Amino acid sequence: MKATTGHERLARRGVMMVISSPSGAGKGTLSRLLLEQDKEIELSISVTTRGRRPSEIDGVHYHFIEKSHFRSMAENNELLEWAEVHGNYYGTPRAPVEKALEAGRDVLFDVDWQGAAQIRDRMPDDVAAIFILPPSMAELRSRLTRRAEDADDVIEKRLVNARYEIQEWTRFDYVVINDDLEGAFNDLKSILTAERLKRERISNSVGGFIERLLG
Ligand code: 5GP
Repeated sequence: MKATTGHERLARRGVMMVISSPSGAGKGTLSRLLLEQDKEIELSISVTTRGRRPSEIDGVHYHFIEKSHFRSMAENNELLEWAEVHGNYYGTPRAPVEKALEAGRDVLFDVDWQGAAQIRDRMPDDVAAIFILPPSMAELRSRLTRRAEDADDVIEKRLVNARYEIQEWTRFDYVVINDDLEGAFNDLKSILTAERLKRERISNSVGGFIERLLG
């Protein structure tokens, strides 16, 4: 994996880009755009015990698994982090993340604040944790309703939870307000670019470059 420093591209450690938000704040759309446009970052596909939504594909959006399977993965330390969110279990399989980072690739994590906090605690040097906020609670409600993917009572539960989740904002390195998708997407890309150029991430290769630079 190379740092995008113009002509000279330096080998670097992968970025673990964690994005969280209350559901409906646009994190799904933003991560999809990023994955489509940036071929150096790949999605960590979570396991979940939640039922599959009609628009979702097993193995693409999530690995949908039974509670007993989830429990055994957690007990066998196969999850980098896990949490209960809205009454269901969600977790990040450890092996694919380790494989991607070893190959020098960046990994995008779409996890809740509890997952973000666990990943950040475990790998503080490699993580950039971003919190996406809606411009208002009214807009959040209208996005959840427009999405029409969840029953009314589920939407109400998600709105109540959103108020708690938003209070966890101090756990994140970056805060992006998604009032306009293009602006929020540009913010996200800028964060990723800056993270890729961090000296600590290129410290193993920058020395050689400096030597060549100074002749
Ligand atoms: P949804 O059910 O809407 O797909 O996701 C609900 C919440 O669970 C979202 O905030 C999402 O980011 C979070 N989530 C998804 N996968 C994981 C995971 O692997 N770990 C944790 N901690 N949260 C997750």
